[in-house]
Amino acid sequence: MQVKPYLRQFPDKDGFFGRFGGSDVPPDIARECERIREAYLTIGNSYDFVTQLRDIRKHFQGRPTPVYYAKRLTETIGGGRIYLKREDLNHTGAHKLNHCMGEGLLASYLGKRKLIAETGAGQHGVALATAAAYFGMECEIHMGAVDIIKEHPNVVRMEILGAKVVPVTRGQGTLKDAVDSAFDAWVADPEASLYAIGSVVGPHPFPMMVRDFQSVVGFEAKDQFVEMMGVLPDNVVACCGGGSNSMGIFAAFIEDPCELHAVEPLGRGSGVGEHAASLMYGHEGDIHGFHTVVLADEDGAPSPVYSIASGLDYPGVGPEHAYLHSIDRTIAGGATDEEAVRAFYALSRLEGIIPALESAHAVAYAMELAKQRPYESILVNLSGRGDKDVDFVYENYPPAQYA
Ligand SMILES: *Cc1c(COP(=O)(O)O)cnc(C)c1O
Repeated sequence: MQVKPYLRQFPDKDGFFGRFGGSDVPPDIARECERIREAYLTIGNSYDFVTQLRDIRKHFQGRPTPVYYAKRLTETIGGGRIYLKREDLNHTGAHKLNHCMGEGLLASYLGKRKLIAETGAGQHGVALATAAAYFGMECEIHMGAVDIIKEHPNVVRMEILGAKVVPVTRGQGTLKDAVDSAFDAWVADPEASLYAIGSVVGPHPFPMMVRDFQSVVGFEAKDQFVEMMGVLPDNVVACCGGGSNSMGIFAAFIEDPCELHAVEPLGRGSGVGEHAASLMYGHEGDIHGFHTVVLADEDGAPSPVYSIASGLDYPGVGPEHAYLHSIDRTIAGGATDEEAVRAFYALSRLEGIIPALESAHAVAYAMELAKQRPYESILVNLSGRGDKDVDFVYENYPPAQYA
């Protein structure tokens, strides 16, 4: 029997990666998910859609983003060569716009008027508000009342971009409650609106769709690396919250002789509530309508999570990550807050690149790997730029202490 290539084989038609993934949601949401799945598999693979998305990537987003050899960082460590895939140079300063533009384009083909999503730290909300402005659509971002106060600059950006920010006060007024609120708004008006998730999580087809839209990162990087070096990278490294930037770059290398490293936030300790390392410390369970590995208590209630990087503090991980880790195709590693801050300063000072604190976790891990493997190359997905983090780092980890 012929074996299909990995990306064609996974997920299966019900959205499973091995035993992970699937869709366990109320009937009204299931019906809308099925409509999106069908639209994505047909329209999303049409010539018009694919060429239009490629055009958007080139002329609006500024793709391809470069692959850059971090020479001074490499020489300072004195080990393996570190290369950066510069998603910080993607429009809006991070990889999230890659799937938001794909989701927005699909919505426009379906004649939708409005894009709906939740946001935690606000990064996904800003990316989706950008996509909505581009496509001339309304945008409604559900955000916990607590987060609205904490993440003021991103609330301002969303409103300037024309989005409506809906404060969520139910429950604890945080990300989980915002997800429920966004789902409710979507199923209340499914004809006119499309729900656009923020990572490779949620019920089928979202983990598949977001992976495919993000895989542009991996396919570009692979071409660029081979063009530069004539061979494939030995290692591919990316930080992992929900897992969209890591799945995006991994997707192009799954069937290649490259080691894939998913870097989780180890925060400030290994106790419950001190980190958000689901692959390393979690166990099998369900969250937000899919089966994966989660950080949860004995009754299945999500555990409190923490990371210095607000984009990484999710108590689960995308189902494809759970699968790839379970078959040992990926290696789960981690970096602490402190290590991420050191990498943040190292990259800023040695290369003139201020990384997002999320991406700094991947850089920290790569710096350690470079020491252990002096003859290997390491391709890091630099998922975003650090402008959003500079005030926080400056106040809490002053530059003088990291001289
Ligand atoms: C949101 C975010 C992440 C984490 O999300 P993933 O889905 O795990 O990629 C990582 N880096 C940056 C810059 C982000 O904004």
